Amino acid sequence: MSGLIAVAVGGRGVVDPAEPVLRADDEAFLRGRAAFETLRVYGGRPFRLAEHLARLAGSAESIGLPAVNTHELEELARQALEAAATPDCVLRFFWTPTPTSLALVSALPDHHDALRERGQRLISLRGVRAEEPWLLPGVKSTSYAVNMAAEAEARRRGADDAVFVDAHGVVLEGPTTNIWWRRGRTLSTPALELGILAGVTRAAVLELAGAYGYEVQQGTFGLEELAGAEEAFTSSSVREVMPVVELDGAPIPRGPAADELQAALRREATLPS
Ligand code: PLP
Repeated sequence: MSGLIAVAVGGRGVVDPAEPVLRADDEAFLRGRAAFETLRVYGGRPFRLAEHLARLAGSAESIGLPAVNTHELEELARQALEAAATPDCVLRFFWTPTPTSLALVSALPDHHDALRERGQRLISLRGVRAEEPWLLPGVKSTSYAVNMAAEAEARRRGADDAVFVDAHGVVLEGPTTNIWWRRGRTLSTPALELGILAGVTRAAVLELAGAYGYEVQQGTFGLEELAGAEEAFTSSSVREVMPVVELDGAPIPRGPAADELQAALRREATLPS
């Protein structure tokens, strides 16, 4: 993994990042059958750690993995962050069927400030609406090859990222983001009932939006709603609130909400405890 700084493994503690950490028969590797989380660390403090660990526990249960050992993961995170000695970074948790627990610390990607300045170009791509339990709605599993392929397709077509729409043109989410748009003082975002991931940043933005006087509607929306928006942005732990300036080659205006919510998110994440 690029930018990997520190690794801590259940039962072993901090190991050299070059060390093997999985058994060859771990289905995390063989089948992409493991739960994971990605969160951002601000000034040494993981943002909304409890929420991420709760989602990890839910993902593990949906996949049929042994129950997550939350305390062990917290301890591994502490050890890995101490070893990394990098106050602003990305923390990842993995929980596999053997079970193996991992906490990984990586450097923050260095292109996000420039992307926030310019705004993202998105393309819409057909995605699967996870309507059945075996499609793992709301689960963050390591079976992300499809999501990565969608990102690669977006880049191949000259865009920055994708947004998935179902067979009926209903907007879902990005490969690693939730999507939002604004008309007047109303923000819209797809409902969790569509089987999308319950983003921890999405939940934070929902709270902050109310405080900034925005009304939020969560629902089932066609792509034309997003295309005709007065402003759009994505939310995710690592990229935070990131403006969208183009969808399928057509411009989307810049607006105040993305900047306001990004500033508010940063303020909350960096508040002294
Ligand atoms: N949707 C998907 C499919 C994701 O993979 C992610 C994060 O990686 C998100 C949404 C955003 O979730 P969060 O805000 O918890 O990072």
